[in-house]
Amino acid sequence: MASGVMTILRCGVLVDGSGVPASEDMGVVIDGDEIAAVAPWNELGIRGGYRDLRRCSVVPGLIDGHTHICLGSPSSPSWAAAAGDPIGLVTWGLASSCASLLSGVTTVVDAGSRDGLALRVGTLIKSGIAVGPRVLAAGPAITTTGGHGASFGVRADNVDELLKAVRANVSGGADYVKIMVTGGAITPQSNRRRSQYRQDELDAAIADAHRLNRKVIGHANCTEGITRAVQAGIDIVAHCNWLGEHPGTVEMDPHTVELMAAQGTWIDLNIQGAFRDIEEADGRVVSAHPGEPTPRTRWELLRPLAERGIGIYLTSDGFGPSVGSFTGQLSAVESRDVPSPEGLISHVTSIPAKALGLAERLGSLQAGKLADLVVLDGDLRADRGCLAKPLSVFRSGIEVVSNGLLRRPPLLSRASAEMDAQEDLLARVFRELD
Ligand SMILES: [Zn+2]
Repeated sequence: MASGVMTILRCGVLVDGSGVPASEDMGVVIDGDEIAAVAPWNELGIRGGYRDLRRCSVVPGLIDGHTHICLGSPSSPSWAAAAGDPIGLVTWGLASSCASLLSGVTTVVDAGSRDGLALRVGTLIKSGIAVGPRVLAAGPAITTTGGHGASFGVRADNVDELLKAVRANVSGGADYVKIMVTGGAITPQSNRRRSQYRQDELDAAIADAHRLNRKVIGHANCTEGITRAVQAGIDIVAHCNWLGEHPGTVEMDPHTVELMAAQGTWIDLNIQGAFRDIEEADGRVVSAHPGEPTPRTRWELLRPLAERGIGIYLTSDGFGPSVGSFTGQLSAVESRDVPSPEGLISHVTSIPAKALGLAERLGSLQAGKLADLVVLDGDLRADRGCLAKPLSVFRSGIEVVSNGLLRRPPLLSRASAEMDAQEDLLARVFRELD
């Protein structure tokens, strides 16, 4: 909403998030929480009263489309202190959100939290009580008894239970529905090479989520699970590892790929897994593209899908404060894998914005969108390393990170003004009692 409070930035290099080449010496005019204009500096006719960022690159606020801000690593002593109760978990989620914001992420999607507590974190940030990125959340992930993530998910073992879980999550405020379609690595007793659900079960759950206008994110490691989820009309496949049923095999299914391209299915690819050696992680690629060179990493495995028009975006899938290392990992992506920095930025801005249904307001630097921007120290085209430590972060037009440090949110000032008013009231009451 335009407020008349203007911030004007003069940007040395502007990467707008759409993937097009960067522009030099650009102006961004922020009015209230929105971008009012993006134009070459000399066309704006501004003489003074602007922030001179001619030594910096400016990119859209990043979107980390897959996190678990209220979960932690069992080996972390601080997690042990937080994990026992909801207050600890929400505090942990707030701390994780701060880590994410400091790294330049202005929107996170939580893809599964115990009792849906990440939704609570999102509410506290939205109200201005806490500072953080915009938190959109799926509530507790839906899984089978003993299935992937069962210790922090909601269990559903048949169609009726799946429908109940979808409906309970949506009525509890979930922005997305997350289904653990296959087993996963962190739940050793689950089988990541098989689907946890039958076709009719996925059909029913996904159709009901769509009836309630929620996009469905499916954790899917194996070909059987990916194929069933895509046939059921899933919106986003997380991981998309194409593991075959037999240990050591990776089997991409060309028919499912065609269906994904036809349906506009998106892929949420965890950055750590994306550039790791497939053989080391999962085994041999046996039937991806016979006759072509064998892909070395998951990124290479999925590149033909991107060329087919299937949108792939990069996420941290980070647990707790480790979400803060997302941009550090992004800065280490080599130009061999993603040649242009503009392309790299699009994988964490405009592409996830489209996949997650946020593109109307987020994901690129354009007039009319929310003013989420990250200021990087240097020229991103020459040095991807500057992504790892942003100088400033603007969220909805407010500079929430300045010189690499969290600023007191202006909304907190409103809370302290409310407290001052209450103290005045108490003082008057006591005077009258005297
Ligand atoms: Zn996850």
